[in-house]
Amino acid sequence: MIPYGKQSIDQSDIDAVVEVLKSDWLTQGPGVPQFENAVAQYLGVEHAVATTNATSALHLACKTLGLGKGDSLWTSANTFVASANCAHYCGADVGLIDIDINTGNLDIEDLQRRLEDAKKENSLPDIVVVVHFAGQPCDMKAIAVLADTFGFKVIEDASHAIGSIYEGNMTGCCQYSDISVFSFHPVKLMTTGEGGLITTNNPALAERLARLRNHGIGSKDGWFYQMQELGFNYRMTDMQAALGLSQLKRLPDFLTKRRQLATYYQQHLQHPSVLHLRQSDKVTSAWHLYVVRIQATNELTRDDVYNAMQKKGVAVNLHYIPVYRHPYYQQLGFKPDDFPQTESYYLQTLTLPLYPDLLPTDHDYVIKALKDILNG
Ligand SMILES: *Cc1c(COP(=O)(O)O)cnc(C)c1O
Repeated sequence: MIPYGKQSIDQSDIDAVVEVLKSDWLTQGPGVPQFENAVAQYLGVEHAVATTNATSALHLACKTLGLGKGDSLWTSANTFVASANCAHYCGADVGLIDIDINTGNLDIEDLQRRLEDAKKENSLPDIVVVVHFAGQPCDMKAIAVLADTFGFKVIEDASHAIGSIYEGNMTGCCQYSDISVFSFHPVKLMTTGEGGLITTNNPALAERLARLRNHGIGSKDGWFYQMQELGFNYRMTDMQAALGLSQLKRLPDFLTKRRQLATYYQQHLQHPSVLHLRQSDKVTSAWHLYVVRIQATNELTRDDVYNAMQKKGVAVNLHYIPVYRHPYYQQLGFKPDDFPQTESYYLQTLTLPLYPDLLPTDHDYVIKALKDILNG
């Protein structure tokens, strides 16, 4: 089977982890701040705090921005459930935003409409989690204007988007947000096994994030330490940080390869039934996913195409089942009718293989397989 995504691990990655295994530190030691500093420098941001994964990073981000009972957090309907779940960890409510069907990112106009309605009802969100879907940054300037007008905080869920660029700046530099969050799960752009990272330019937030990651305990003085508030054990290990540091060195090559593969899809996967995601000219995507919309012909549905691709040995995928369609969220009263663009998108979307080590022959095979299926 050709997978839809896959990590790239080479000898330099293996050597880096083995070196840690032979050292005195396995859990969080000198490797973690080294990794944090390297990522912060790469992104052009003041502070980076590494965590166990992006889910715990989102939890800490919300908690640090003061989210609690009676508050609310909004995010895109087209995302992994973790972007929304972090609100519930803090006892806050979740609201969802419809998407722009052409990009898969949240629809700015829909966000604005919902904010205007919420203002009348005195139910404005405290935080909006912006998801850079498939690696394409959202229109952060427009979101910053709305954040200013309606008074909410902005978290960028950049799990798909390390290395992406918005108007000349790296995603995660937090020019237009309070906090950004990254995932280093193996299907993402670079990996630490499990792993996550939070960036911010606010020193007070950074200090609290680091404290909450470690049980709420601040700095140690010999044997003496004090727990200031209830925190968690969301620490990254030095083994993961070493892998992360090694992967970060390879990230520019990964990104180049992904961009080449995406361009190849755009040029060679031309078919009347295949719609490619539209790219804004303000951004350079990191191309975490290659998503197309299938406008099925010959009475073929997207599910038929999905099954036929699997049969041909291509493990295509689907991003995402809308948040409101999960039973946990359904029972909270979300209605699919409130998200017409997400609904249409959901019926058409298909994720094709895209990863740095994808072989040219496999790439051609995927394109031919899809065309053959669509042509009946
Ligand atoms: C993968 C992902 C997460 C969760 O990442 P983990 O590191 O697995 O916790 C959150 N949000 C989005 C958009 C993701 O794609």
